[in-house]
Amino acid sequence: MKKFGKWALRLLGLALVVGGLYFFIILPASVDRKVNFVEPHEPYAVSERAKTLHADMRVADLHADTLLWRRNPVKRHRRGQTDFPRFRQGSVALQVFSTVTFVPGGMNTAANTMEKDRMVLLSLAQAWPPRTWNSIYERAMYQAERLHKAQAQANGDFVIARTKTDLRNALKLRTINRDIIVGVLATEGAHPLEGKIENLDRLYDAGFRMIGLQHFFDNKLGGSLHGVEKGGLTPFGREVVKRIVEKDMMIDVAHSSLQVVEDVLALTDAPMVVSHTGILSLCENNKRNIPDGLMQKIADRGGLIGIGYWEMAVCDTTPDGIAKMLIYGAEKFGVGAIALGSDFDGAVTTRLDTSELVAITDALLRQGMSEPDIRKVMGENQIAYFLKHLPDE
Ligand SMILES: [Zn+2]
Repeated sequence: MKKFGKWALRLLGLALVVGGLYFFIILPASVDRKVNFVEPHEPYAVSERAKTLHADMRVADLHADTLLWRRNPVKRHRRGQTDFPRFRQGSVALQVFSTVTFVPGGMNTAANTMEKDRMVLLSLAQAWPPRTWNSIYERAMYQAERLHKAQAQANGDFVIARTKTDLRNALKLRTINRDIIVGVLATEGAHPLEGKIENLDRLYDAGFRMIGLQHFFDNKLGGSLHGVEKGGLTPFGREVVKRIVEKDMMIDVAHSSLQVVEDVLALTDAPMVVSHTGILSLCENNKRNIPDGLMQKIADRGGLIGIGYWEMAVCDTTPDGIAKMLIYGAEKFGVGAIALGSDFDGAVTTRLDTSELVAITDALLRQGMSEPDIRKVMGENQIAYFLKHLPDE
């Protein structure tokens, strides 16, 4: 009997070790690999002209969810779509790092609620600290800390821009050190405020500069494109938008309901971005792209429209398809309003990762966009936007 007990204990121990290995190591990596998937493909054949132009560009992207995954961004990885070495290979000078803090159970594009919190399991499996398990605010703060840690490990080659001066100085240094990447911290939905306006100050102090108002569900600020009510700004939402503008933070209305976009446009003169989207008249029949009329208002206001690379946004996910939408957007809304908004590592399947962005430059050249315009949509528009709208000090 005693012997049996000893063996049972050993078996139990083994089961715990195997289970732990699976839950904490294998499961998170396999989810990451599966949802942030780059379709296998031959290396893209690109012209010498495209290579030379791309290598000389400052590429900038308005949205990636790199921080959601247990990958140290400083190192190169064979899964997912971004990390610093791959940004450098893609000539990326500036990347907005967004923080996903709540994933609804049964997520879809039609109607989601905050009833089931799938982030609990993801944060547990990725060994996030206990404070993040039940706090949406802490999940944003933890991801910001991870970006600051990456900055500390990057030997000066990665800079989180909090001010215009930070960005200007980093870009100046980049003229002699092409390895330098600038990061801007953003939220994907303002639910990390947990209904408290003072948490906006705390996010600001942690380095957040762009606030996405909604994600996949209606929150305390207002409706989502994929929520149940899909309503406008709430009184709290109005208070937050005003405070974002006062603090010289930036507004992102990707995922916001049509009424929220209208309400924000009516409430403030401040420009805003739609960080990751597609253009509805070119990629129809989907619940992800807002109507062209609203996009036009955002463009007229000096805002930016970040074009994504996944199917629901762009319909044709090839580099040619992405280039086609960039050119279409430039013709429709003005070349100064069009930007890149990859949504890399945001649970999207793409045909390229961030190291392969030269394929888009090549497609833009082949489709007849001028070199100065290519530079604009690939990064200069975004850089000009942040140089104008980040806080002075
Ligand atoms: Zn998103």
